[in-house]
Amino acid sequence: MSSDRTQTLASWTYEMATAYTRSAKVMSNTAKHFSHVRHKNPKASPAYLATSNTPSIKGNDSHRLLIILDLNGALVSKTGKSGMWVRPHYTEFLEYLFDQFEVGVWSSARQNTVSNMCQLFGNFKKQLLFTWSRENFGLSEDDYLRNISTIKDLQLVWKSLEDNPDMPSYTAYNTILLDDSSSKAALQPFNSIAISEFNHKDTEKQMNGDNELLDVIAYLEQAKYENNVSNFMKRNPYKTDLVNSDEVTERDFESTHFRYSDAKQTLGDLRNTAGLTHDGVSRRRTLEKKRPGHRKYRKSKKTSSSPVTPQL
Ligand SMILES: [Mg+2]
Repeated sequence: MSSDRTQTLASWTYEMATAYTRSAKVMSNTAKHFSHVRHKNPKASPAYLATSNTPSIKGNDSHRLLIILDLNGALVSKTGKSGMWVRPHYTEFLEYLFDQFEVGVWSSARQNTVSNMCQLFGNFKKQLLFTWSRENFGLSEDDYLRNISTIKDLQLVWKSLEDNPDMPSYTAYNTILLDDSSSKAALQPFNSIAISEFNHKDTEKQMNGDNELLDVIAYLEQAKYENNVSNFMKRNPYKTDLVNSDEVTERDFESTHFRYSDAKQTLGDLRNTAGLTHDGVSRRRTLEKKRPGHRKYRKSKKTSSSPVTPQL
């Protein structure tokens, strides 16, 4: 066999091997993508739909609803594994929530990450009814390790609370899930507030700030007087921009950075998040030390309010 023919044969063999590897990868990814569909039936049950069609009555007294909070994307934006930015207005939001409602956490992150993110609750942490993580989805070992779409079945929460004699009965009548992903609520779609995603790198947030948590407070202020929130929310789905949509304030840009290792908090500005290193040290502050005449930093520091602490 001539050396030319040997080279051509080698080249074909190489191409065939590459094509085989590529198609195997595509098949493996497709299997991963549909694995949750194969195992779950993400459809609201007839019983749930009947509940959501039962007319809600608005009363004069408010109900102590159960609010289940997602963390990443809803309340926080992670900076790698070392820390997170927390959504503007979160202290006001937590004060309101823990005063008026029962509050639980359900995140699809793993327990250790959830525990780190829960630093944002400060002294409210001990009032959380439950802190659920990826371990609470009933996933198979394979799915637990894969990056699959998860569904938050509120039935699991309701069942876990029904044995507690100190708790009222929680059902679709009085539970609200707050999550930046509406697909998480596929089984109880009318009990969900689909909040916009909070990502500190989002240029829209950096330009316009974020007051979505104030919108959520305004919505909950209506929902708490209803005796069937699933019906109320079906008829009045949550929409953003209920409050001062055009009026942007300095507070809309105030985001607090938490460093997990020592819970150190640093007040930041969404317009300048690039100025904060991953471990929460301000590059601007370092710059200021080196260049005392750097007036721009001093000016922006003056206009921002004092650091917010969660010790409330
Ligand atoms: Mg999320």
